Amino acid sequence: MSQPSKLSFDNGGDFIRQTRREVDEYLSARIRTQGRIALYAKGVVAFGLLIASWTTLVLGHPGVSLGLIAFGGLILGTSLMAFCVMHDANHGAYFRTRRWNHLMGWTADALLGLSSYAWRVKHNVAHHTYTNVDGYDADITQMPFARLMPVQAPRPWYRLQHYYIWALYCVMGLRWQTVGDIAAFARGSIGTSALRFPRRWDLVGLVSGKAIFVTWAIVVPLFFYPWWAVVCAYLAYSMVVSLIMAVTFQLAHCVEEADFASPQDLAAESRLWAVHEVETTVNFCPRNRVLTWLVGGLNYQIEHHLFPRVPHTHYPEIAEIVERNAKLHGVRYVAQHSLHAALRSHFRHLRTMGRMGMPVALEMG
Ligand SMILES: [Zn+2]
Repeated sequence: MSQPSKLSFDNGGDFIRQTRREVDEYLSARIRTQGRIALYAKGVVAFGLLIASWTTLVLGHPGVSLGLIAFGGLILGTSLMAFCVMHDANHGAYFRTRRWNHLMGWTADALLGLSSYAWRVKHNVAHHTYTNVDGYDADITQMPFARLMPVQAPRPWYRLQHYYIWALYCVMGLRWQTVGDIAAFARGSIGTSALRFPRRWDLVGLVSGKAIFVTWAIVVPLFFYPWWAVVCAYLAYSMVVSLIMAVTFQLAHCVEEADFASPQDLAAESRLWAVHEVETTVNFCPRNRVLTWLVGGLNYQIEHHLFPRVPHTHYPEIAEIVERNAKLHGVRYVAQHSLHAALRSHFRHLRTMGRMGMPVALEMG
């Protein structure tokens, strides 16, 4: 099916106008300062945990028990850096200037092995602008491995996708760390969003970031442990972090309650961008403070999509304003009450997408 060349949304609407006004009123100078202090404190905890865990594991020669605790700390520290530092920074929510945000966002290169330059196109442009739009949002376009929305063509193997997708989530990080970034630069695009080859400081950041990541994750450990132990530990570490990241992002968009769209749908009718974002996104566990802290407010993805440049530490309070205005303006606002409900909805959505459009015997099986 041919795709319309340019998609655009209507940026106005009473819902977002009123919501923005109330959020601006709420975010006084004092509240903004408190939010930033909480944000930076999380960054210190995340980075401290990462460094302490790595030092214990690699340089400290721990026994099995302490080694496993340090390994868990390394996974937790990395996930916190991803959710609470690099994600905010690459959205421009960490500091006031673009340069400092990009520098902090570079933790994606040095600590996660992912190009922050490519992430800003993949995540900020492709995903945040065209959320759940087939072919445009790279997060929801995973053919020929999985079918995540109704408009995508059925294939017999998708019938088992609700079982095997978890393995795919585990290797997504490895893919981006190795061939994913390079393939995207060679192609010059992510989804339908253009990706220019990085130049000057962006290129320096890309090359030095990959070198630093490989050095701490693989080269230095090789001086202290046999190669097979380093390879096994690296694979396990990378797969668990990848699974945590992929599932956290997918629970917000790839669930039964979320809306999906094809480029043809959007070309046929003009849509309000803010309404599209709320209806293609689902929050989860809004009252779970521990989970909110751990996932960097990504359980409040509706608020994140409407206000990506606001630090995530403000999302729980902003959510009350957004939900109230959504009700007032007839915008569908959904929040799953528990993590179990969100996971079950993701699983069911995958199962339905895998079966939809298959011959009846298969669909009923
Ligand atoms: Zn984001």
